[in-house]
Amino acid sequence: MFVKCSQCSRQAVYCQRHSGRHLCRSHFIKDFEKRVRYAIKKYRMIESGDRVAIALSGGKDSVALAFVLNRLYRKRKDIEFFAITIDEGIEGYRPPTVEIAKKITEQLGMKHHIVSFKENFDMTLDEMVKLGDKKPCTYCGVFRKYLLNKTARELEATKLATAHNLDDETQTILLNFLQSDIERLARLVPQRVQKGLVMRVKPFREVYEREVVVYNILFNLPMDMNECPYSHFPIRASVRDFLYDFENKYPGRKYSVMRSFEALIPCLKEMYPQIELNTCERCGEPTPKKVCQACKLREELEVKLSKVKHSSL
Ligand code: SF4
Ligand SMILES: [Zn+2]
Ligand SMILES: [Zn+2]
Repeated sequence: MFVKCSQCSRQAVYCQRHSGRHLCRSHFIKDFEKRVRYAIKKYRMIESGDRVAIALSGGKDSVALAFVLNRLYRKRKDIEFFAITIDEGIEGYRPPTVEIAKKITEQLGMKHHIVSFKENFDMTLDEMVKLGDKKPCTYCGVFRKYLLNKTARELEATKLATAHNLDDETQTILLNFLQSDIERLARLVPQRVQKGLVMRVKPFREVYEREVVVYNILFNLPMDMNECPYSHFPIRASVRDFLYDFENKYPGRKYSVMRSFEALIPCLKEMYPQIELNTCERCGEPTPKKVCQACKLREELEVKLSKVKHSSL
């Protein structure tokens, strides 16, 4: 059945439930990009003179992010973009997305830097998981964040753009409420500039995940929909499913969650003012403590490794 676009006479390719509109290819793209621009402007994410590092895993969201930023800003000579891919060393999962990241940056003519756990920490994530007693995502999250910030800073980035979308953000907001972790919730508040820390920005915070997928399809962008073998977040999955069902019944409610969170920002800022960061005693990277989390985890892993080596002698 031919469904007409609500804005013109062309065939609709997308039913935008939160607005009750049907959109053709061209109006979908316009609308999507308008909301990305709106988020960027609202939070002053990208401004004249910025050098923006894009965290490009090669997954569908980050590929779309590199593509859309390139499209929106390609005529702006006063703003630069480049991509950083962190290769954690997850066999079977990461290599294909690293290839996608190479392909899309080549296509866009964007500088691309690949940084691996192995080169920087002498171990892949797979090796850390075998050796250590922490959850895979703990090693992955801490070391990835560390390397992204360090690399972006060393490459003189002024902003670090990540591809978190409206679904990711609202899941995190609700999850923090449900776990009564208001301090963690406050960490979602857009931060001010801190020495040694490249400011993170999230241009996709106003677009739904499924819209990102449609955008990728409409531009025929390379997509990898595989899931990390370590991915295991039962509580987050429940929150995701709940939000999905709720949104299905009452379209637009993810925006309500986001707007409610935004209304709380002044209180959160007052309750948890941003603390001044120290410099890690071991590696010199910014940290709220004396020694950063990455150095602590590294030390633990090194102790375990030397025990293993000792016992096999
Ligand atoms: S799910 Fe996989 S990629 Fe994501 S944080 Fe966990 S280990 Fe890393
Ligand atoms: Zn149209
Ligand atoms: Zn450190």
